[in-house]
Amino acid sequence: MKWAEFTIITTEEASDAIAEMLAQIGADGIAVTDPWEIRRIIEDPDSLSYADGGFVDSLGEDVTVKAYFAELDGLIRLGPKAEEYIDEFDTTAIYGNITGSRVSVDEALRILKEQLGKISAFLDIGKGFDSWKYVQDQDWENEWKKDYKAFRISDRVVICPSWETFEASPSDVVVSLDPGSAFGTGTHETTSTCAVILDDVIKGGEKVLDLGTGSGILAIICKKLGAGEVDAVDIDKLAVDVAVDNCEINGCPDIQCYVGELKNVRSSDYDIIVANIIADVIASIACDIPSRLALGGKFICSGIINTKKEMVEKALADSGFKILRMEEKNDWMAYECELS
Ligand code: SAH
Repeated sequence: MKWAEFTIITTEEASDAIAEMLAQIGADGIAVTDPWEIRRIIEDPDSLSYADGGFVDSLGEDVTVKAYFAELDGLIRLGPKAEEYIDEFDTTAIYGNITGSRVSVDEALRILKEQLGKISAFLDIGKGFDSWKYVQDQDWENEWKKDYKAFRISDRVVICPSWETFEASPSDVVVSLDPGSAFGTGTHETTSTCAVILDDVIKGGEKVLDLGTGSGILAIICKKLGAGEVDAVDIDKLAVDVAVDNCEINGCPDIQCYVGELKNVRSSDYDIIVANIIADVIASIACDIPSRLALGGKFICSGIINTKKEMVEKALADSGFKILRMEEKNDWMAYECELS
């Protein structure tokens, strides 16, 4: 399969807004190389990564954001991946009039530049659009694998790429992952803040729904921390296939992975529902979460860029939730909530 790779060179302050915008217009994959983030990881005393000074100096200051869009018959696919697989999902409310449209590269570039222009009205976006080219699956796979190493995502949990080994101590919970083309390497703030909350909340035996499972990472973390029944659900069939493989690799074949959205999940008595999706989706599904929770159940949500936090907090309050805990990391918010 061929992908159109759009490269944007930007500043650290604008990179999250640009990545969010790319997700909104339907990028199938987004790779952010942030030299400041790499410096922070290397300098963290708990870091499992080591690098010499020359490497750190060579990183420069610019953040590179690469977005990948599937190429189909010479056209670029915008809008949610779901459209390809399941017709009945109504995502127009979220993606507006660009839902599932196929456009020429020129039109995609026009939309991209228009959206960058909007962001540049309130943030310094640096150089902005740099270049585009077609890449094959293979290049994309190797690009991110180079930088993906074992790392500790929460007190107890270490994420280890499935092609690496990690010397675990007896108290470590190791999750082995090959995210493939699904979202969910664990390196994104929206995933790691969820993992930190789950590490505290899971005590053993809970029935969990991981909505928007991507690679299956959060579902597997829950299971390995001792959860009971776990459902891993995603609107993207490709993600569900990846999640099934990752559950196998981790010796968790009993996690139920299936394609769907909230209305399709099979139970209404989850002790924990975790959803790391974008802010607009969290805000729009919040009102339907209570009917899926067991008494005293918790809703953990993430993927929320802080410019949209008021909207999400209002939707949570309107749905009867009180926020028990809030995690903020580099402009991204995650919440642990309970019905009040
Ligand atoms: N849980 C993973 C992946 C998060 S990415 C992690 O924390 O890293 C968000 C995922 O949600 C994507 O795989 C996307 O396909 C899926 N998604 C988007 N909207 C959804 C919806 N309405 N219902 C279920 N899944 C959705």
